[in-house]
Amino acid sequence: NTSTNPIKMANRKILDYASEKQKEIENLKRMEVYRREFLADVSHELKTPIFAAQGFVHTLLDGAMEDEVILKRFLKKAAKSLDGLDKMVHNLLSISQLESGDAKLLVEKYDLREQVEDIFDQLDNKAEKRNIDLKFSTSTKENVFVYADKRRIGHVMTNLVVNAIKYQDNDNGLVEVTLLEEDGKVFVSVADNGFGIPEEDVKRIFERFYRVEKSRAKSKGGNGLGLAIVRHILQAHGTQCHVQTEVGKGSTFSFVLHSKPFKEEELNIEMISA
Ligand code: ADP
Repeated sequence: NTSTNPIKMANRKILDYASEKQKEIENLKRMEVYRREFLADVSHELKTPIFAAQGFVHTLLDGAMEDEVILKRFLKKAAKSLDGLDKMVHNLLSISQLESGDAKLLVEKYDLREQVEDIFDQLDNKAEKRNIDLKFSTSTKENVFVYADKRRIGHVMTNLVVNAIKYQDNDNGLVEVTLLEEDGKVFVSVADNGFGIPEEDVKRIFERFYRVEKSRAKSKGGNGLGLAIVRHILQAHGTQCHVQTEVGKGSTFSFVLHSKPFKEEELNIEMISA
């Protein structure tokens, strides 16, 4: 009987051990490649706003600041670049925290309806300027409670609604957030009638720094991190974002949250009791 033969058993143990080590080495190699790519991407992306701010400040120092109009205009532009830089660094920190698994979710019961209404209030001006209607519909007139990390789901909702506003130039633009409660779940969707996303890009939009039509996205102040953050936050909640989209027609981003307490074992979370 082979399984009780001590030499064969020892051999099998050695083989198992070797294959386990091989897997560990492959994992480490993959992580190393990932880290190197991440660093290269980050350095590349940071350069743009740094160069821009540097350019404005040096031009001013070289004499342009004698003209008060130019002084103001260039300072404003430099400030805008620095604000963008600040936002990018902030987003990068969130991503790295979420990717390393260091970010613990603080799950609590809260009203998603109220959160969406607050986000609409904050973005109302932006939408109005672009002639976009912000619409909200729910399956109930009551509160829509979810068990989730309020601050982080706030980021998710804000990023999705901001994108829905940004990526369209309709005369009668529409952004619609829908919350449907069913069987202990809340189905959330953010729909727009904007540009839509080409099929070959859809699978990549959740990657960090990925932008469809770089120039257009950049002119809209995008840095390609918004959806990467959305993906990570939803993943940490044990759920994921789906996209339905058609070029020229619009896009719908949707995901599911819990409306009842759920088992937290698999997730790195801490429950805050209500
Ligand atoms: P960005 O900061 O560039 O907006 P995101 O990660 O939020 O980065 O989005 C990645 C890309 O996906 C965007 O550059 C844009 O091309 C595309 N995109 C995201 N949301 C939408 C949308 N609602 N409609 C059309 N394109 C979108």
